[in-house]
Amino acid sequence: TWDIEIQDLWGGYNDTKVLKGINGELPAGKISIILGGSGCGKSTLLRHILGLNRPMQGSIQIGGYDFFALDTKQFRKIRRRMGVLFQDGALLGSLTLGQNVGLPLSEHTKLPQATIRKIVLHKLGLVGLADYIDYYPNELSGGMRKRAGLARAIVMDPQILLCDEPTSGLDPINAAEMDQLLLSMKEHFPSMSIIVVSHDLESLHKIADNVLVINQGQAAYCGNLEGLQSSK
Ligand code: ADP
Ligand code: ADP
Repeated sequence: TWDIEIQDLWGGYNDTKVLKGINGELPAGKISIILGGSGCGKSTLLRHILGLNRPMQGSIQIGGYDFFALDTKQFRKIRRRMGVLFQDGALLGSLTLGQNVGLPLSEHTKLPQATIRKIVLHKLGLVGLADYIDYYPNELSGGMRKRAGLARAIVMDPQILLCDEPTSGLDPINAAEMDQLLLSMKEHFPSMSIIVVSHDLESLHKIADNVLVINQGQAAYCGNLEGLQSSK
């Protein structure tokens, strides 16, 4: 399984230091929430875990491997087992839901179209959208688009699922539904690490096993929810 261990991670963008010595563990099979005020570096940490930004110092261990010390082939192999739910769902308007969700499969595998459609149908079923496979994104509500983004994030059966503010922009009913879906992902994919960037304290209490709190570029707390409550 793919536990993630962040060790003294300094990072950011070129000359902009954002993360200043983050330490923390994001265990497989759990939902970990990266929590913190806006601008504290949550998305930046996500980009480091995705391998989009390189650390200035320190390391990220994934499944025991030093992620940034791997050769390109191994690095890509790990990258391919990460699914991302972007903040806006990031669906292409010119493609149907089925085509959007199937995109990672048609890009990275040689599976025949019929097989891809079957997998896509199954994944859309997990987010309650199987009936909408041939709809276009603009025919769906914002909540549905976000759920479709989740279906695409899991279409390759990732070991690591990263979600950037999955409830942002959703009304309370759709936000609660998204929380339930993330909990159901944990059931369906028991060895997957689910990492959620959020500032939503309500979903924190509903779904988190673990919390990494970032404050001024450092990890102010990393551990289970019970510990967070007693550390206050
Ligand atoms: P959060 O996700 O917690 O709101 P971010 O990680 O997006 O915070 O941003 C943290 C800091 O990094 C902010 O000060 C932001 O201005 C800066 N930042 C974000 N993206 C870039 C970039 N591409 N280049 C330089 N600085 C950036
Ligand atoms: P590309 O899009 O350049 O063909 P990838 O999608 O695999 O390559 O990589 C995306 C990002 O990861 C780039 O910023 C690239 O510099 C970085 N990257 C690629 N290989 C490695 C590696 N072995 N170690 C660290 N970072 C890497």
